[in-house]
Amino acid sequence: AEKYNRGLEKSRQSFGKRLTDLFVNFNGVDDDFYDDLEETLIEADVGFETALQISEEVREEVESSRASDPKVISQLIVDKLVALYTRNGRAEDNHLVFAKEGPSVFLFVGVNGVGKTTSIGKLAARFKARGRRVLLAACDTFRAGAIEQLQEWGKRDGVDVVAGKAQSDPAAVAFEAVKKAREEGYDLVLIDTAGRLQNKVNLMKELDKIKRVIEREIPHAPQETLLVLDSTTGQNALTQAKAFLETTDVTGIILTKLDGTAKGGIVLPIRNQLHLSVKYVGLGETVEDLSPFNPEQYVNGLFK
Ligand code: GDP
Repeated sequence: AEKYNRGLEKSRQSFGKRLTDLFVNFNGVDDDFYDDLEETLIEADVGFETALQISEEVREEVESSRASDPKVISQLIVDKLVALYTRNGRAEDNHLVFAKEGPSVFLFVGVNGVGKTTSIGKLAARFKARGRRVLLAACDTFRAGAIEQLQEWGKRDGVDVVAGKAQSDPAAVAFEAVKKAREEGYDLVLIDTAGRLQNKVNLMKELDKIKRVIEREIPHAPQETLLVLDSTTGQNALTQAKAFLETTDVTGIILTKLDGTAKGGIVLPIRNQLHLSVKYVGLGETVEDLSPFNPEQYVNGLFK
């Protein structure tokens, strides 16, 4: 909870404060009030559709309960935000799926710069601390420096890394990694991939090939295909997500850089429009700054 409160500082100062401000010169719940509410939500990247839906539902509930106390109404908005997230899924949705036996494989996809490599480094440390034998696979052979960056995380975390040469076939690296994991008894393989959305056809082929190679070596793998999205890119994150969903089966979202945005609202449309769970959120740059997503802590972090 403390990490959330710290990581959501910027969003709280802006989004949370604007929601609180709705009640500063509160003249009762009239049309202006709902207009302001919608505007505040849209500016926080909740998205147009989701903002209208929240506003509608708050209005219905205010009318049916005849609430007029600003405190009650403000709590009602908070509850709505949490409910909107949780009712579209189950509380345990942020859990990751592991193989019943043998190594589990998690594939990380997303465009360049969103925080894939960093999230893998943070997660590797987390799983290692829980006693799992982790192997990293540097399949982003395209971006200059991506391989070295993953190797750096490997060193820092004290976990092994399988890497090929720059520009080599990512599927060959993936194959080498899952084979090693199976033969040498690793528990978990985290696979970094390149994210060139500019060339969607090639990207799709590349991810497909990586997946086929993995599944041939380890049935039912990858257990998770995690799409990494950068919350500071706002509505663009949704556009990216839609493009990836067209090309690959995504099992969950890692939402990074929540600490770097004043508009933490993007969590809601990810769930509401894309029907995907946010599994982890990035709340800073250090190895500890990755937390399992918790909708209550998130919304409370905005309003603290
Ligand atoms: P990739 O190209 O998707 O692998 O992205 P990187 O892992 O290289 O991350 C790009 C930049 O974002 C790096 O400078 C990271 O330190 C930074 N970054 C990643 N996650 C977070 C986060 O949760 N918070 C902040 N503030 N920075 C982050």
